Amino acid sequence: MSLINEHFLELNDSYLFSTIAGKVREYKSAHPERKVISLGIGDVTRPLPQACIEAMHKAVDEMGHAETFRGYGPEQGYEFLRKAIAEYDFAPRGVMLGTDEIFISDGAKSDCGNIGDILGAGCSVGMTDPVYPVYVDSNVMGGRGPRISYLPVNEANGFVPQLPQGHIDIIYLCYPNNPTGLVISREELKKWVDYARREKSLIIYDAAYEAYIRHDDIPHSIYEIEGAKECAIELRSYSKTAGFTGQRCGCTIVPKELTATSSDGRTVSLNRLWNRRQCTKFNGTPYVTQRAAEAIYSPEGREQVRSTIDYYMGNSDMMKGRLEALGYQVRGGEDAPYIWLKTPDGRGSWEFFDLLLEELSIVTTPGVGFGPSGEGFVRLTAFGRREDCEEAMERIAAWKR
Ligand code: PLP
Repeated sequence: MSLINEHFLELNDSYLFSTIAGKVREYKSAHPERKVISLGIGDVTRPLPQACIEAMHKAVDEMGHAETFRGYGPEQGYEFLRKAIAEYDFAPRGVMLGTDEIFISDGAKSDCGNIGDILGAGCSVGMTDPVYPVYVDSNVMGGRGPRISYLPVNEANGFVPQLPQGHIDIIYLCYPNNPTGLVISREELKKWVDYARREKSLIIYDAAYEAYIRHDDIPHSIYEIEGAKECAIELRSYSKTAGFTGQRCGCTIVPKELTATSSDGRTVSLNRLWNRRQCTKFNGTPYVTQRAAEAIYSPEGREQVRSTIDYYMGNSDMMKGRLEALGYQVRGGEDAPYIWLKTPDGRGSWEFFDLLLEELSIVTTPGVGFGPSGEGFVRLTAFGRREDCEEAMERIAAWKR
């Protein structure tokens, strides 16, 4: 008998971003005179929208008076925010959700891992490769590590993941995608929904970047596809939508139609299980934060959010255009704040990462850190300051490699 969850011992020790941080630290101490520009960060740099700041000030004042003070809130989140999400994020896309299908979270990362609590330890898991590492590690922690299979997204399949050959119980899809910055068409997403319904599989759909979608025909939610409520949980986040990376708020959608069969043949509602899990292990997102999130849906809030997203996408358009003009092969970056750059001259991801750091003082993220199919790519993010993105492109343009 072991005291610990030994599945933690199966985890890969060197977490991608700490390895990068270590290399950057070393480089900076060796070259203190050079200005390092990070195109690797997955964090935003623009401040919170003014509407959120005002809402938070007001909510803080409420907390200071006995009449308006709030203690523990509902574990599922306040009705005002759940209603706003149903009304502004989903209804305009033809997706009608009850507020009891919307669970306010402290961000998508937590629920990405937490969702494993209601899933069988013996389930097989499929995820696109390259992939957001949290899907892998949280499943390893839950004992599903040996049953993880990768669905490659690469040049050979035109960067379109193919349905698994056999049966997979749980499938993670993330669109717009981190790290590739690519999106999924309605037709392709329908194939996954049809597969999941046929196979009685569960799709965990991570829509953390949906606010970045610019093309009208790209789905923002999996529930825009008929039948998806029967087979999918959707994760959403205000982190990249409205600069909430430090504020912490998102939501998880678990439709009432979503059921699974227990080993003794009972039909079980996942909404009920998730609610039970949340009531036991979560005491809600702070009131002040939920008021900030609600403010995103006000007319001013929406405008301010749009302007921040436009700023980042302006970075993306500029970098993508410059890189393409220089002859680099780049993908993504049109409906997402990530650019997937093919390393030139057949270089490996880490080799090209090192070269850009050593010669140009530019930090990227090696694609292979997101999975084997990321080899030969690096990820650039559009979350930097415009001046820094421009300077990085100037350095690449002047580079004699
Ligand atoms: N999902 C994906 C694909 C992400 O890239 C991130 C953050 O980088 C998250 C979820 C986590 O978001 P949050 O800040 O809401 O926890």
